[in-house]
Amino acid sequence: MSSELFWADQEAERVISKRDDKDSYVCAAGITPSGPKHIGNFREIITVDLIVRALKEKGKSVRFIYSWDSYDRFRKVPAEVPGNKRSLMKEEIGKPVCDVVDPWGCHESWAEHWMTRLEQEVAQTGIKPEYMRQHEFYRDCVYADAIKKALNKIDEIKRVLNKYRSKPLSDKWQPIFLYCEKCLKDSTRITGYDGDYGLAYECDCGYSDAIDFREKGLVKLKWRVDWPMRWAYHGVDFEPAGKEHMVEGSSRTTGVEIVKEVFGEQPPYGFMYGLIGRKGGAGKMSASKGNVVFVSDALEVYLPEVLRYLFVGNRPTADFTISFDEDVLKIYDDFYRCEAAYYDKAEGLSDKRAANLKRIYELSNLDPPGSMPLQLSFRTAALIAQTADKKKWVNRVKKLEKVSEGDEPRVKSLLERAAKWVGDYAPEKYRLVVNETVPSLKIDSKVKKALRALGDYLLKEKPSLDSLNKKVFELAKSVGVKKFFKAAYQVILSKSQGPKLAPFIISAGRKRVGGLLKSV
Ligand SMILES: [Zn+2]
Ligand SMILES: [Zn+2]
Repeated sequence: MSSELFWADQEAERVISKRDDKDSYVCAAGITPSGPKHIGNFREIITVDLIVRALKEKGKSVRFIYSWDSYDRFRKVPAEVPGNKRSLMKEEIGKPVCDVVDPWGCHESWAEHWMTRLEQEVAQTGIKPEYMRQHEFYRDCVYADAIKKALNKIDEIKRVLNKYRSKPLSDKWQPIFLYCEKCLKDSTRITGYDGDYGLAYECDCGYSDAIDFREKGLVKLKWRVDWPMRWAYHGVDFEPAGKEHMVEGSSRTTGVEIVKEVFGEQPPYGFMYGLIGRKGGAGKMSASKGNVVFVSDALEVYLPEVLRYLFVGNRPTADFTISFDEDVLKIYDDFYRCEAAYYDKAEGLSDKRAANLKRIYELSNLDPPGSMPLQLSFRTAALIAQTADKKKWVNRVKKLEKVSEGDEPRVKSLLERAAKWVGDYAPEKYRLVVNETVPSLKIDSKVKKALRALGDYLLKEKPSLDSLNKKVFELAKSVGVKKFFKAAYQVILSKSQGPKLAPFIISAGRKRVGGLLKSV
């Protein structure tokens, strides 16, 4: 394997070498929709997506299946549930999450609420897995034969699980949950098994029954058996997982043994992906929803291709942080450099680095334009977003940059994100409010005169950025550069410093600033 290969291409080769060279592969990811799904869950999805793309580029046919473990039991009432609904939700404990009520009433279940949200967020990043709601598979009795295998090989399963437990599983332990047909909860006990498809049970609610689990989909395999069963059933070749499922003795370790011993298949290739932290925006986020960063939070600040870029550019095994503070400016600059490399417009790059950046860009921007798009800096976007009316945004940009028709959608998206960033996350120094009237200030009379002259000029002329720049420096030099700029920022922004004056005046509005300066 070449060490020059990009990580996603290396991993694709590893999938092929570990699972034999075949025409088609199945890559998988999944989670229980037990509560809010966050940017860490998205990491699993995009990691698989990138390796799926790399496999497809090698001419392979690839399925990307995403399993929602929607037949898992509802274990506890999460913090997100509003106070007045908590006792209602407590009653739901023990039901499968697909049957638990949505406390907000906007979806048919608690599980559906969170599944829909993540699916909509993921769609915005250009990723389209084949979503599987596992409760449908279980309820349709699709896994009946696998359940029979697990029930018949209970001793093998227990032996594997007990190797990693300090206290062995009890004699009553079963590899399944059985949801009561009457109360829908898992508060049942198995009272008989015929060795085939027949199970008898009784429930705490008083109900008892004997079922054929090929006809009634009430049985769910427990997680440590369910996961390897699905590897075998769906023929999974690759599935990564987070630390909790990957460390020695975890469900991956036992799954590898169970898939071979119980289901007679080989385990998929998989690795452990790193954690995602957050930098900045603590106040805003902790107030509303604990420490969770949703994909939609990140998309409020990052364009989809820039969010993808963060995940493509970091090896999946490495931990990294999503920044909401002033790092955002640098991340956009870095992304633009990567984009420039893709269009052969970046200077000073070694061939190796250029090739690496091109590959990162290809996997980040799934729909790259034919020629390099306008790279409006996030700093300028933030400036315009807070000093101009939304309707005037694009026009203001046009006064500073050449904007083609094809550039407009990205320019608008960027400005929306910049506005959000300024409003919710930006450090104080990036927040600008243009004064309505001149604040009371002590300004040297010569400086005042120069400011008024600039005001006059702005009201009478329609200068280009270059001519305005010249005028600003000509006037500044005539009275002392430091004094001039300090006074200008005080008059316009009530700050003693600010962004570059000429582009700022154009983005904030020539006449508006001209009027202020003239009345000094
Ligand atoms: Zn809902
Ligand atoms: Zn019951």
